[in-house]
Amino acid sequence: MNISGKGENFNKLTAHLTYQMKHLFLLLLLPMALFAQSKKEQRLLKKADKIHARAYTVDTHADVPINMLEIEGFDIGIKHDYRKDGTQIDFPRMKEGGMDAMFFAVYMAQGKRTTEGNAEAKEKALKIFKAIHEAVKKYPDMAELVTTAREGYAVHKKGKLGVFIGMENGWPIGQELSNLQLYYDLGLRYITLAHSFNNDISDSSGDPEGAEHNGISKFGEACIAEMNRLGIIVDVSHLSDSAFYDVMRLSKAPVFASHSSCRALSDVKRNMTDDMIKLMASKGGVIQINFVADFLKKPSEEVAVSIRTLRMQAMRADATPEDKKRINNELRQLKYKYPGDVPNVKTVVDHIDHVVKIAGIDHVGIGMDMDGGSDVMGCEDVSKIKNVTIELLKRGYTARQIRKIWGGNTMRVLEAVEKTAIRLNK
Ligand SMILES: [Zn+2]
Repeated sequence: MNISGKGENFNKLTAHLTYQMKHLFLLLLLPMALFAQSKKEQRLLKKADKIHARAYTVDTHADVPINMLEIEGFDIGIKHDYRKDGTQIDFPRMKEGGMDAMFFAVYMAQGKRTTEGNAEAKEKALKIFKAIHEAVKKYPDMAELVTTAREGYAVHKKGKLGVFIGMENGWPIGQELSNLQLYYDLGLRYITLAHSFNNDISDSSGDPEGAEHNGISKFGEACIAEMNRLGIIVDVSHLSDSAFYDVMRLSKAPVFASHSSCRALSDVKRNMTDDMIKLMASKGGVIQINFVADFLKKPSEEVAVSIRTLRMQAMRADATPEDKKRINNELRQLKYKYPGDVPNVKTVVDHIDHVVKIAGIDHVGIGMDMDGGSDVMGCEDVSKIKNVTIELLKRGYTARQIRKIWGGNTMRVLEAVEKTAIRLNK
């Protein structure tokens, strides 16, 4: 037996014990860390719950009427499962998420700008208004139609959801200003002047042919004046840059971008430049951040081409509801094929941070575009919106600031537009 040998063994033994202890220590530490982590998450969730209990949360762009009209048997009063049917909004999920009010969109893809085409658009618009009115009437204990900020708050106090109405694409106005009064009387409170193609009112950021009016047309000018007089918010989402600058010059009331994001973070024409955001803010307006994936994070060229092709197919006049369902599925599948291109709640809050940095806390809101292409990991449907609030808390936003982002700023624009209408009618 030699001492050195013993010593070696002893050293080995200590080394072995240290190794064991290290592992034991790590094994003890890991659950502690996880526990602390989940404790922190729980604390944040509790804080988010508290904020949502007090806040009046409003989303400015909800495409659920598409599902109401196109999915056979779709019932807004019943809870659906996003993983099964891909739908993102219904009353039970709004309640669950703490989403107090949404602007339901009377949306239609641009069609023929002839007398017949315009008549068809009007007929379709009236059908969508009717579907929204009926959905609310069917569930009087869950929701009410609201048209002013004050009505919104009153309905909220009763513990019910508010349904505002916006119109995406001014095509159903046709060439007749009197249609604005008709839609206003049905509850309409904003109009996105154009969608993805130019129309008789405005140039679109998406028209492959480029500018037609170099901004807003003469008829469009008259529309904006009448919208100001009635108290309908001018929505600048989807418009070409020059149309946006025309609106800034023409509108006597603040405007908003119901569902647009920041071009500085995702360089697509559908988003707003810093200059546009700052100018709109200087006139009291708000940009409501859109949750459509490529507006939040510019995709690789390969994905961009797939998205563009699929969207163009969905916008074809002869696209059937089945076609659209298939296309939506394919769009959703893209995120599994290219996970690197998919934004999450952090990406959303990056856009909010950016607006706050360049224009201030009073000029950012939320317009998720759910059921119209919204695709954010962690906020897959309206029941998950608190994850956005949690991310805002993590970045140091106060409850007061979060209430502004989640609806306060939007309601301020609505109130300002209401006041301008009163002033213009005096
Ligand atoms: Zn849109």
